[in-house]
This record gives sequence, structure tokens and C-alpha cells, in this order.
Amino acid sequence: MVADGRIVGMPASPGIVIGPVHLLLWEVPEVPHRIVGDDAVAGEIERLHAAIARAKERLAQVRLRAEKHAGPEEAAIFDVQISILSDGELLERVESLIRQNMNAETAFDLVMIDWRQHFAKHSQPMIRERVGDLTDVQIRVLSLLLGLPDHDPVDVPKGANAILVTHDLTPSLTVQLDREAIAAIATDAGTRTSHVAILARSLGLPAIVGLRDATTRLHSGEQVILDGSSGMILPNPTPAQIEAYTDRAIREAADEVGLRDLVNAEPVTLDGVRIVLRANVDLPEDAEYAAHSGAEGVGLMRTEFLVVGRASMPDEDEQYRAYTKVVSAFDNHPVVIRTFDMGGDKLPVGGYPTEANPFLGWRAIRMCLDEAELFKTQLRALLRAAMHGDVRIMLPLIVTVDEVRQARRLLEEAASELDARGVEYRHDLPLGIMVETPAAAVAADTLARDVAFFSIGTNDLVQYTLAVDRGNANLASRFTPLHPAVLRLIRRIVEVGEHHGLEVSVCGEMASQPLMAFALIGLGVRQLSVAARSVPLVKRIVRGVSARVATDAADAALATQTAREAEAALRSRLLSAFGDAPFLRDGLPDYVDGNTFEGYGGP
Ligand code: PEP
Ligand code: MG
Repeated sequence: MVADGRIVGMPASPGIVIGPVHLLLWEVPEVPHRIVGDDAVAGEIERLHAAIARAKERLAQVRLRAEKHAGPEEAAIFDVQISILSDGELLERVESLIRQNMNAETAFDLVMIDWRQHFAKHSQPMIRERVGDLTDVQIRVLSLLLGLPDHDPVDVPKGANAILVTHDLTPSLTVQLDREAIAAIATDAGTRTSHVAILARSLGLPAIVGLRDATTRLHSGEQVILDGSSGMILPNPTPAQIEAYTDRAIREAADEVGLRDLVNAEPVTLDGVRIVLRANVDLPEDAEYAAHSGAEGVGLMRTEFLVVGRASMPDEDEQYRAYTKVVSAFDNHPVVIRTFDMGGDKLPVGGYPTEANPFLGWRAIRMCLDEAELFKTQLRALLRAAMHGDVRIMLPLIVTVDEVRQARRLLEEAASELDARGVEYRHDLPLGIMVETPAAAVAADTLARDVAFFSIGTNDLVQYTLAVDRGNANLASRFTPLHPAVLRLIRRIVEVGEHHGLEVSVCGEMASQPLMAFALIGLGVRQLSVAARSVPLVKRIVRGVSARVATDAADAALATQTAREAEAALRSRLLSAFGDAPFLRDGLPDYVDGNTFEGYGGP
């Protein structure tokens, strides 16, 4: 926090909102231990039952709202939570502890801790993922027993223009959000590349993450200004500040209207180099918007968002419908659909990792290859959806060609299964990979012959190359995509792609940052895929720079020793060639304030 009370975090999704704080504290509360006398036991058991009955009532209400706002599958997680509270064994164990003279909250807390540990160790992944539901239930019942305020996000009144302030937004909380009541999101945890930030951008909700202590500094009902572009929250603004930010919000809206003029413009650099600009789509509902953003197809569809926050995996038909929706929106433009990248910070239900090192753990292609039926269900849905357009399949987190070959075998099996059922599908889908591990980047040549394209996932590539957790707010300033090691890896991937005649795109966040997009063009990248809302912005960057200058700048950056020097080399060339055009600073508020481009604009 700086002198005038403003709190600074990481800009995650642009936009200015002036409104009241809605503080959501969704953490397991401290439970005071008490011994109760024999005569109080019956009363404690009654208190327990009353709290459970009330919790079930609340869950039924929440379920109804989630069904309305997110859909029936998303709402099903609340059925799971209601069934946990109806479990006879659970109630029996809690009651038996109360009969041993324990207060109701301690008894309930102990049983839930035990169940969570038990579930977390289970061999079945979908059962492990129930840990998130258990935690939600634990918080809800304990809050009722302890008389704590009911903090459901769904309680925000419609049209409140509220700014949701919370520690971290788990998927189960996300599906409860009433998007008509919440105008912006601010979290203590997270970074630009964590799932809450990605989702906020998808939903077009202004958001700031990595605020560290916003939940302890802000209070419900307090008026604040949230500026998603600079990552700043200003509590209790003066009338003059409100006026200034209202003016800026109007200017930003006008700028967006100006950007819309670019929808039909070609993404060609000043010296005539054509860049293919595609959209990242995280939810099928976003496809229509993305198709009208000027994107030439989808460069990355993150299918795990079909699963996150749900109680069960979507079946083949449901997935087929979801993929078809995206493919149909894009009239034969390529649609690159990535197979499930679950794990890391993108876990179904609750988002509570149960591994010591989830980012190095059982995630993405590893999980899919081990759970062949789950994977083949997705592959069958993709093969069928390809009847409606140009679907390309992309595998995440590849480190060795064995994984590609195994995935290809499963793709062939999936096709045979469709043959056996007599279902129509397309046979010739290109199978490409995300290059997002140093192994895949350094040894890209060992993969090139077995794949149809490369797409560089810079969010993970930076994380793994620099050994910096992409979701850890304390490390944000060390997450430096312009580190020479990262630049060299990107150059290497481009060279291998060129040598083998493979398309190389970048679909990580780097592609939507002006200075970094400039660097990528200079490194030889000719395809960029960015959040749909950033498509016009990146198009303006492409049209405002020259590939020749970008190449010189990238060569200079590659010759430096540090990310800071690389940034300075790129920036000086960008500014001397194109002047201080304001759009080149879009999304880079730190620079506007005279700081640097380093990292993703962290504090
Ligand atoms: C990446 O890692 O850069 C990427 C695009 O994938 P995700 O952010 O979904 O991990
Ligand atoms: Mg990734």
C-alpha cells in the first residue's frame, strides 16, 4: 500500500469500476474447543442438526441461482454438497464425538478434517477432487454454528455494481457469481496467468489479482475505485478522484469503440508482414464474441474450463455440443482445441491441489494418458465436432515424443470406437502440441516430425524455465518473460518450426502485451493467439510496428544478459521507431507511471 491508501496488485483484466466492496471471506474459521457437560449434550446435538438443516436450505438456494447463472451441470456440485450433509455416517460420527462431551463445532470440524484427509489420498481423481466440496461444506456449517456472517457471493443485490474482494476465487465460488451484481473482482492471491485472471478476462470483468492483503484492508460497503488496467484500488476516493476516473472510464470506452473499427482490418505490419491473429476461448459461450472480434479462428480453446467447478466430467455428447458451438461460430477458420489441461491451478471442483507440487505433478497430458477412457471420450467428441469445421487438436505439457505417439494411438482407438458405433466424424485432424516445457523447447526437433504444429505456451514456459510459480504473487517480479533464456527458447522453437515447415504460434499472455508482442514478431513468430477482448488491441500493435525493426530489436534483446536489459533494448527501439504512441503502452500501466515493462506489470 502506498501513501494515499491505494492498494496495488497485478492488473488482470482491464476496466474501471467505482462501487462498494463486497468482502467474501471463504475460509475455514478458527474453532474454539469446549468441553460440554452431560446435560448440554442433547442441546449441542440439536444445534448441530439446526445448522445442518440451515446449511442445506442455503445450498438449495445457491443451487437454484447457480443453475440460473452458470447452468445445470455447474449447479450439480451443490447436490454433492447437500448429499455430504445428508450422509448418515458423517452425522453419526459427529454426534458420537458430541456425546463424548465435545462442543458441536469442534466435533464437526474434527470429522471434516478427517474426511478431507481421507478423500485427498483416494486413488480415484474425482473423489480426490471432492475435497473442495468438503471444505465448502465445512466452512458453511462452521460459520452457522459459530454465528459468523453468511458470506455467500450470491447475496450481492442486483445492480449493486459491487467489487468482489476475496482471498482467492475458487471454481466453486466462481460458478455462484451473479454476474449482474458483481462488477469487478479483486483477490489477495493469484497472478496474471492464474485461472481466476484468465476467467475474468474471458467474462470481461475488470479484475486485479495478487493484492496480498486487500481482504484485511478493505471492508464491505466501503466505496472504492478499481482500475483493472493499472492494478490499483483506491479506497474512499474524493469527489475529484471519482470525477477523474469517471472521465478515464469514458475515454477507455471510447477507445474501445475506436478499436472496433479495426475488426475488419488486416493484421499486417508496416513493412507488409502478415500476422495470423487468433483468439483464446475459455468458455464455449465466448465463441460468438470472439468470432466478432476480428480473430481468424481460435488459437487455443482451454477445454478444462468445461470441467472446472463441476461435480462430474461432461460426457461425449455434452462435449461434442460445446466444441461444435465454438467451431460453428468460426466458419471454417481453424479452431485449435486443447485437450484437458487439468491440474496445476486448474482443478475440477474446489481447486484444492492434493499434490505437493501440482505444477510438476499429475496434470494435463499425463492425467489424460493415464485416464484413457476420460481422454478418449474427449477425443471422440473432438472427432465428431470436426464435421462442422477446421478442428485441430493440441496436446498440453508435452515433454517427450512418446506422449505424442501414445496420444495418437488413443486418437486412432477413439476413431475406431466411433466407426464401431457408426457415428460420423472427420479422420484427418492435425495433431499439434503446446511447447511449454523447457524439454519440449530445447528438444523441439525431436518432436517436430510427429506433430502438425507448435504453439508456445509462454505462461508455463516462463514458469518452468525460470522455476518461478506463475500463480505466486510474491514471485511476480521474478516472472520475467523477457529473460534471455526464454527469448532463446522461443527463437529456437521458431527455427525448428521453420526448418520442418511447421506453424509456430504463441498463445500465452506474452502475445497480448505490446512490448512482448513486438519482441515475438522480432523473434520470427507469425501467429499470435490472445484473449478475444485483446484481439483488436494486438491488431493495432501489429499494424503499428515494422517486422524489420522488431527483428533488430529482438536480436539486440537476445544479446543482453538480463530481462531488464532485454526490455530496455526492445523499448528504446520501439519508441525510437514509432514514437511514444499511447497504444504501445496499452496494458502496461507501470510504464505509464514511469516504471518498467518488466514482468507483467506487477507491483
Ligand atoms: C500457457 O501455458 O502459456 C498457456 C497458454 O496455457 P495455460 O495458461 O492454460 O496453462
Ligand atoms: Mg500452459
